[in-house]
Parts: sequence; C-alpha cells; structure tokens
Amino acid sequence: MSVLEGSCLCGGVRFEVSGEFEPRSYCHCTSCKRLSGGAATANGRARSDSIRITAGRELLRTYQPDEGSAKTFCSVCGSNLFGAGWPESEFASVRLPAIDTPFEGGPTRHIFTRSVAAWETLPDDGLLCEED
Ligand SMILES: [Zn+2]
Ligand SMILES: [Zn+2]
Repeated sequence: MSVLEGSCLCGGVRFEVSGEFEPRSYCHCTSCKRLSGGAATANGRARSDSIRITAGRELLRTYQPDEGSAKTFCSVCGSNLFGAGWPESEFASVRLPAIDTPFEGGPTRHIFTRSVAAWETLPDDGLLCEED
C-alpha cells in the first residue's frame, strides 16, 4: 500500500493518504466550479481514516453548505483539499491537484455533466460521462 503526500498552495497544510483512489472522477457540479475556480474538480475517493494531516491542522476550515457534503480547505490560501464530508464520513473526496507524490491513474469519468456551464466545453477524452 503506497502513501501519497499532499499539500495546499501555501504549504501550510500537509497530509498523507494511504491506500487507493477509487473511483477517480472529474466533478462538474456547480459547487465544484465555485469552490475551485475551474470547470471541474479532480477527485479520488479514499477512506477518511486513511487521511492523516501531518501539518497545519489548525489552518483547515470546513464549510457545510445547506445542500451537499462538507468541503474542507486551507484558510490561508483557499486550496480545496477534501470533500464528501471529511472527516466524519466513511469516504472522502481528495482533490487530486493537492497530491504531490506522482501516482498512476487519472480520473476515469466525468460526473455531474448535467451541470456543465454555458461557457464550458466537456473534453472529448473518451471518458465515461455521468449526468450526476
Ligand atoms: Zn494553504
Ligand atoms: Zn462536485
């Protein structure tokens, strides 16, 4: 079982994830667009208890929207790090751009494609597309 290291943009938060990211997805939902500033977030699902914060735990903030799951970010630089209700949930979404260690396997699907924005073009990359 490999251990991957991750960090936020400012480097204040550091963490480790052990185990596998399964599944791996680009999420195009409207929440992910807003929190990331991009067309989608790139995520790997991991067990919440496989994520170990090694620095900067006090910098983490969790936002619980009225609908949907809690999202956790660095309060200094705003990097979004974990979704899907981490740390209480059994499984968390780990934002793949936060991972520093090279690993095999990118996202295999696009999800929430019903929320593709008017200004957004889904890439023609042959990956599975799921409406939600
Ligand atoms: Zn940061
Ligand atoms: Zn999303």
